[in-house]
Amino acid sequence: MDLAANLEQVRRRIAAACERAGREPASVTLLAVSKGQPPEVVRAAADLGLTLFGENKVQEARAKIPLCPGRLRWHLVGHLQTNKARDAVQWFEMIQSVDSLRLAEELQKQAERAARTVPVLLEVNVAGEASKFGYRPEQLLAELPALNALPRLEIRGLMTLAPWTPEPEKVRPVFRRLRELKTECEQRLGAPLEHLSMGMSGDFEVAIEEGATLVRLGTALFGPRPVRSAPAGAPVSH
Ligand SMILES: *Cc1c(COP(=O)(O)O)cnc(C)c1O
Repeated sequence: MDLAANLEQVRRRIAAACERAGREPASVTLLAVSKGQPPEVVRAAADLGLTLFGENKVQEARAKIPLCPGRLRWHLVGHLQTNKARDAVQWFEMIQSVDSLRLAEELQKQAERAARTVPVLLEVNVAGEASKFGYRPEQLLAELPALNALPRLEIRGLMTLAPWTPEPEKVRPVFRRLRELKTECEQRLGAPLEHLSMGMSGDFEVAIEEGATLVRLGTALFGPRPVRSAPAGAPVSH
């Protein structure tokens, strides 16, 4: 794996997608998804100037983060169980995967206990895939007032995982729908939302063209993840 070359290539592709969409490259933040990668790889990425990292499992993050440079910032991008909310609040700057009021209430409780506010994104299952977590759009709009009433959570935007496809153009409507949904949420909240976290290694350019502010890239930077068996019944993550 040539991380420096991959990073340069990714930066070029981000810049080109921004150019096509008439956006500033600085309006897109690259989040390096380091799940499955050891601390040495994170350190190498940090040495190349990456500062924002994502993990999808609290347990893996707790073991890894203390072995990585302390200046790095970490986002949780994978499904969070309520019984891990306390650790999530301890280890992550932002939680991108809030997908129920019950989870949000538990995060509120743990944030209160930790005397901090927690920036969150609300995860939306735009395509309604059974294998994925996230709010259905109607359900999100219904719960938005209750979510917004939790004083220790700051709703910063929306996150989605598009269905896997070899043809990223096919998932453009998913990204567009998330952007429209963000506008609907902003109208209901009467306040702007900063982030649209959408786009992974296979589809980030289309996501940027549709307004992504955070792209979450794993394999495009680090190459294929070391193979590990997923727990039985776990949704497949790409
Ligand atoms: C693994 C993962 C990514 C990165 O996936 P790649 O296809 O390797 O870029 C992004 N977001 C989430 C939520 C993930 O679990």
